[in-house]
Amino acid sequence: MRYIDPHVHMTSRTTDDYEAMRQAGVVAIIEPAFWMGQPRTQVGTFQDYYSHLIGFERFRASQFGIKHYCTIGLNSKEANNEALAEEVMELLPLFVSKEGVVGVGEIGYDDQTAAEDKYYRLQLELAKEVNLPVQIHTPHRDKKKGTLRSMEVALEHGLDPGMVIVDHNNEETVQDVLDRGFWAAFTIYPHTKMGNERMVEVVKHYGPERIFINSAADWGISDPLAVPKTAQLMLERGLPLDTVERVTYRNALAAFGQSGQMPETDWLTAAAIDQSMKFSGNSILRGGQTPKVEAADTRIIR
Ligand SMILES: [Zn+2]
Repeated sequence: MRYIDPHVHMTSRTTDDYEAMRQAGVVAIIEPAFWMGQPRTQVGTFQDYYSHLIGFERFRASQFGIKHYCTIGLNSKEANNEALAEEVMELLPLFVSKEGVVGVGEIGYDDQTAAEDKYYRLQLELAKEVNLPVQIHTPHRDKKKGTLRSMEVALEHGLDPGMVIVDHNNEETVQDVLDRGFWAAFTIYPHTKMGNERMVEVVKHYGPERIFINSAADWGISDPLAVPKTAQLMLERGLPLDTVERVTYRNALAAFGQSGQMPETDWLTAAAIDQSMKFSGNSILRGGQTPKVEAADTRIIR
């Protein structure tokens, strides 16, 4: 089987993770722009971060046979620094229109402050203008209220729910999201919250329509193999193969594919892995390592 992880922060992960993900069948990933764990203080650090997502990180993924896409946005936490947020907003139009950017994200509410609301709305307008999907981060506190509000505001701004992915759902939010016609994404957190056993039950109950899963792996305790592992568990628990493929591959492709930036042929006809390649003169190899160079015909995925 092949998988898409449509929410994973690879900048914070290791080459071992990339290797394990490819081995497990992950062929494409989406890295949403997010918070680094500590607030940024300069607009230049946002600019370099966005450049990194569409530049070196994409290259790094390619060196392990994974297609890397991203969503670009001002995250909700940092929207609270209004002076900086204003400067970041000026950068966004340039970055959202770059190749391989499949959405505006992850945006939305954290503490549901007035500043968060302001920049969420401005970024919804931006998404509408450039006709890109929106990837919404729903708050971990007051989740139900925050999720409902995120959707209400998106509708108020005239967004098509079919262009909006509401992320980090749980059993309390999924029905409302599906009822309103939005995509319902779920993050599989190891040890806590939305575990993979619970996800199996959600899919059994609601079916695969407009539902998909991700790892949201980042610098915290998280599992970049959450998508393939949950797929395996779903099959073991008797869910049909077609259902599992939809929630771990096809639905994410359908949702973010609306950007026009993520055709399946990108990975079905991908070039062979060639670790002798360089990005701005830099390779992923360290002293004396032998580059992995695959013959082109070994890369045809059946
Ligand atoms: Zn995230």
